[in-house]
Amino acid sequence: MHNVPSSPAPSRPPTDITPLSGNQKPWSTADSTELYGIKNWGNGYFRINTQGNVEVVPNNGQGNKIDLFELTQDLIDRGIRAPMMIRFPDIIRSRVGLLYNCFQKAFVDHNYKGEYRGVYPIKVNQQKHLVQEIVKSGKNYHFGLECGSKPELLVVLALMNTPDALIICNGFKDCEYIETAILSQKLGRKIIIVVDRKDELQMIIDAAKKFDAKPRIGFRAKLNTQGSGKWVDSSGARSKFGLTSMEIVEGVDLLRKEGMLDCLELLHYHIGSQVPTIQSIKSSLKEAARFYTGLHAMGAGLKYIDVGGGLGIDYDGTGSSDSSINYSEQEYANDVVSILQGLCDEKQIPHPHIVTEAGRFLVAHHSVLVFDILGVNDLEQKHPPRTATKSDPRLMQDLQYIFEKLNRENINECFNDLTQAKQETLQLFTYGVLTLEQRAWCESMYFAIATRMLTLARQLPDTEDIIKFMSQELCDTYFCNFSLFQSVPDSWAVGQLFPVMPIHRLNEEPENEATLADLTCDSDGKIEKFIDTKTGSFRETLAIHELKNKEPYFLGVFLTGAYQEILGDLHNLFGDTDAVHVSLNEAGYTIDDYVPGDTVTEVLSYVQYGRSEMVDSVRQATEEGIQKGLLSKQDAKALIRHYEQGLAGYTYLEEAE
Ligand SMILES: *Cc1c(COP(=O)(O)O)cnc(C)c1O
Repeated sequence: MHNVPSSPAPSRPPTDITPLSGNQKPWSTADSTELYGIKNWGNGYFRINTQGNVEVVPNNGQGNKIDLFELTQDLIDRGIRAPMMIRFPDIIRSRVGLLYNCFQKAFVDHNYKGEYRGVYPIKVNQQKHLVQEIVKSGKNYHFGLECGSKPELLVVLALMNTPDALIICNGFKDCEYIETAILSQKLGRKIIIVVDRKDELQMIIDAAKKFDAKPRIGFRAKLNTQGSGKWVDSSGARSKFGLTSMEIVEGVDLLRKEGMLDCLELLHYHIGSQVPTIQSIKSSLKEAARFYTGLHAMGAGLKYIDVGGGLGIDYDGTGSSDSSINYSEQEYANDVVSILQGLCDEKQIPHPHIVTEAGRFLVAHHSVLVFDILGVNDLEQKHPPRTATKSDPRLMQDLQYIFEKLNRENINECFNDLTQAKQETLQLFTYGVLTLEQRAWCESMYFAIATRMLTLARQLPDTEDIIKFMSQELCDTYFCNFSLFQSVPDSWAVGQLFPVMPIHRLNEEPENEATLADLTCDSDGKIEKFIDTKTGSFRETLAIHELKNKEPYFLGVFLTGAYQEILGDLHNLFGDTDAVHVSLNEAGYTIDDYVPGDTVTEVLSYVQYGRSEMVDSVRQATEEGIQKGLLSKQDAKALIRHYEQGLAGYTYLEEAE
């Protein structure tokens, strides 16, 4: 709520615009809960506590909790720098258990005879600690890993040795990838090589003969059923991966000819990531299940159906956008199980073991990016500039008049006059009629009127247009200490919405509306799309608190654990942020690992700059400068010290020592 100036202003208008505050209820944390929709997307892992801070409840609403704001301060006290990525391994454990239990429940409810064999596709986030946590927490569930490339296979082989857990090899493969997989099978790993491209099958057969091995083979089917959402192109006849029905039939013939048809153990498909609707999930599975029963009828020794990834999470709580989902994980499991049971019973074939490749679902919740606000570009003008007089240009007098006469009755007329005056200001300045000072006065008055007009419009009916226009005109820009391209790239690349909110002061009303600008020099480096719980759509600004003098103010971007870290790039040479792993213990929490972000030197080395050459070059220049009398030895020493410290430092903005 924008209030009218309460202190005496140079020219006090006669109109009475009384703010509505007086008899309103004071702001509470419940209001913030509603405003930021934290219950809708938090999934029980995030909520607001009575101190007005965001609280993390890693065990899904139960057990110990961590005050995110206190944690942030605690981390800063230990020398960890904002922006920082805070990861909660307990959340991963909770997600792995949740998915497993959903399938167990569906099995019982549908009297399903197959087993559940989840795998985690490491491309979603390959951080070692994270993959290790999944392997550890999935041990009792025979939870495995999926790799989509040769380097990923090498990671998986080094990290996982869970008996009975699957290793699924997807992606385009060369001979080396296939031979490595086949040889590792001899170590007792349960590796399934999925044929993504028809030429791979012959390579697998050749490698099997070369090493006298019996490979486990999967076929990835190209489904006709399209998914939905942002990643629809992952299926359909022209999709990048998979075999058409013709190629599958040829593949079966080839395997039969080689006497290897019993090696074909798995049928795989993947219709894309973050599938927003359960309808797409069901229709693609129905088609895939027909492939499964068809292959069975042709004599393949199938045991597994791999339903791919795509299990979505709710980033915005709407249940109806591409950043949301219209189903729960239990519904997902129920539908997968009941469709397979139905079709297999119809054909009287054994229920297959079910493999899921959910990635996003398992890891998105576990990391939060926390950053500080560096400053605000605040356009709101509570006090008008000095009063314009007869000796000022006509336009200034007009603006003065609008300011003074603005009231409930003439708001529309004043709005039109004001937008007209704004245009004239720019024209007259360009023609040289207005001086720079006069233009500044006009702009200042423009914003003073706009501020009053917005306050007034919010109290009147039928003023949506004015409110919308003026909110945008007056919208603040908060400058944020992070890089969108490094830490939340999908916000820019595919327009995905991530929950963003302050992590403290949530018992105070956020009075400002702002968009967020990052540190890069890229005009795309900003966030202008936020959750709107009222309309279930988006708002273009975030409700945010006024900065308090010298008090740090922190925002969090939530659900950043999937894809963001690995897709992030070095735009403007902003590197990896500091990252910490925080686990629950009896007393509260422990900081298990600290992974320092990139130094400037590290980031520069990616683009072939060597530290010592750079320091030498600047040192040389200072020597010449000293010779020519351009700077003193002390200045040279100070410059070199700054230069070296800069190279060793963080790529983000830091507090002065
Ligand atoms: C990326 C990918 C996944 C993971 O998808 P999510 O939407 O993160 O669950 C699973 N399988 C394959 C083949 C993939 O390419």
